Amino acid sequence: MDLQNKVVAITGAGQGLGRAMAVYLAAKGARIAIIDLDQGHMDETKRQVEAAGSNGNTYLCNVANEEQVESTFAAIAADMGGLHGLVNNAGILRDGLMVKVKDGEVSKMSLAQWQSVIDVNLTGVFLCGREAAVQMINGGEGGCIINISSISRAGNMGQSNYSAAKAGVASLAVVWAKELARYGIRANAIAPGFIATEMTAGMKPEALEKMTAGIPAKRMGQPDEIASAVAFLLENDYMSGRVVEVDGGLRL
Ligand code: NAD
Repeated sequence: MDLQNKVVAITGAGQGLGRAMAVYLAAKGARIAIIDLDQGHMDETKRQVEAAGSNGNTYLCNVANEEQVESTFAAIAADMGGLHGLVNNAGILRDGLMVKVKDGEVSKMSLAQWQSVIDVNLTGVFLCGREAAVQMINGGEGGCIINISSISRAGNMGQSNYSAAKAGVASLAVVWAKELARYGIRANAIAPGFIATEMTAGMKPEALEKMTAGIPAKRMGQPDEIASAVAFLLENDYMSGRVVEVDGGLRL
């Protein structure tokens, strides 16, 4: 796919990896549908997309809400004239052990803590992928969907909810590669390692140092190192049904 003038929707594009992807793809001529919960953050992404030489529209939408996702993707098609790419990037963390014992008391991860992550990180990917596929089929030019998984898909302590969702979205990319190939639509996933964004800025410095020491590359990744993998998957028409790991060599 030549990205010049193609419309690419990115969820969670208000900051972090999503914003880096938006700016990186805009520099290649893509027009960006910026989807997030935070209008102020999206306005800043739009400004940076324009500074990179392209244009974009902002869409306030909770990816876990079916009605909002349906109306957002219909609006993108109406406003921007068809959709060629989707990056399912929006995600949240609500970490905690499933069960722990402290001072002799057993406590559990709550169902709400489990469900909130499943709703955004798994159901949100399903809802956006489904609507994007409809718009791509209607557009008749095929397209490409990329799900942002995580190295945590291998199973990370304290992340029952997150690891399950991230394994799920890697699997969804394979399912969609098989189901949607007949419409000229490809699907892939990217599993980033630890990347320097607002999400990881919340980690304690000692934990960050210990974690970085365990990465063969001995450093965290930069958002552009994920954005360039997104561009590669969009541009290469023979990549489908794969999970690309971009993690400095780290294995959990
Ligand atoms: P971030 O927290 O910096 O940004 C996430 C964005 O998603 C925010 O702008 C937020 O407003 C938006 N968002 C959250 N819930 C939403 C919802 N319900 N609807 C719409 N938008 C919503 O995170 P990040 O580090 O940029 O991570 C982006 C993606 O990459 C996430 O899926 C994350 O799980 C994944 N990831 C990140 C890392 C890392 O080290 N940063 C590693 C592996 C995977």
